[in-house]
Amino acid sequence: MFESLSDRLSGIFDKLTGRGALSENDVNEALREIRRALIEADVALPVVRSFTDKVRNRAVGAEVVKSITPGQMVVKIVHDQLVEMLGEESHGIDLNAAAPVAIMMVGLQGSGKTTTTSKIARRLTQRDKRKVLMASLDTRRPAAQEQLKVLGEQNGVDTLPIIEGQGPVEIAKRAMTAAKLGGYDVVMLDTAGRIHIDEPLMVEMAEVKAAANPHEILLVADALTGQDAVNLAQSFNERVGITGIALTRMDGDGRGGAALSMQAVTGKPVKLIGTGEKSDALEEFHPRRIADRILG
Ligand code: GDP
Repeated sequence: MFESLSDRLSGIFDKLTGRGALSENDVNEALREIRRALIEADVALPVVRSFTDKVRNRAVGAEVVKSITPGQMVVKIVHDQLVEMLGEESHGIDLNAAAPVAIMMVGLQGSGKTTTTSKIARRLTQRDKRKVLMASLDTRRPAAQEQLKVLGEQNGVDTLPIIEGQGPVEIAKRAMTAAKLGGYDVVMLDTAGRIHIDEPLMVEMAEVKAAANPHEILLVADALTGQDAVNLAQSFNERVGITGIALTRMDGDGRGGAALSMQAVTGKPVKLIGTGEKSDALEEFHPRRIADRILG
């Protein structure tokens, strides 16, 4: 589907073999290809710009090591810069706080919030042997609370009993109380989404945050978000203050440029990726693997 960046760059640099250092002209030509590869990988434009500036600074004048071609050299510089921006290592969910630890899941409608909530709860229960309570705070979408209950039953995770007529803040408070009384280690709060970011959504998220005092606030976003990723991540981070990102649909065709975009604008790590609809399709985020995928 995509021509790999390495192939494109070796095409450009074939004619340059034998020279010592990368000149500004060589690098500019390579940067055009890099820019194109990043845009094809769905990296947001402002992030593409800052990324290529950083690569230019690193590449111009760099000595080409004898054993590799200039094309390979530039690919290495691009790869190193990507890994630097994505972070060196993977970050797990942080449960280092007094129990019950609240994890608040936020994001747009359809991003995969409920699915990811249940995947994380399942993993914490089965792998990490934690006692987890899930609660759906989505009182807007009919059957959202029921959906989480069914997923809980399928995966052996408790859900907070549904009480008709309660609002999100009331449910959040009830979940925290129930978790304390029931000796739960973790409370997963699956909040309501919207089709677009809007003011009432942000107000609701701030109120839920104040009520539950979550230790983690994970933004769930579709890996195919593309150019909107920057706006989405920035809005949630500024208004609610996220602690990490969960990228869903990494099993799709996309190259995962949203990971770079969202991390670049928020400074918050991608912690987990969703790789399918099934309840065990959840993986840690490995920066090097994503760097390879973005480069193609
Ligand atoms: P919410 O509205 O944000 O709570 O979204 P849901 O959790 O209901 O998910 C919406 C749809 O996306 C469902 O059909 C999920 O099965 C699907 N989905 C969620 N995560 C993934 C993923 O990682 N990969 C794929 N292929 N589908 C996913």
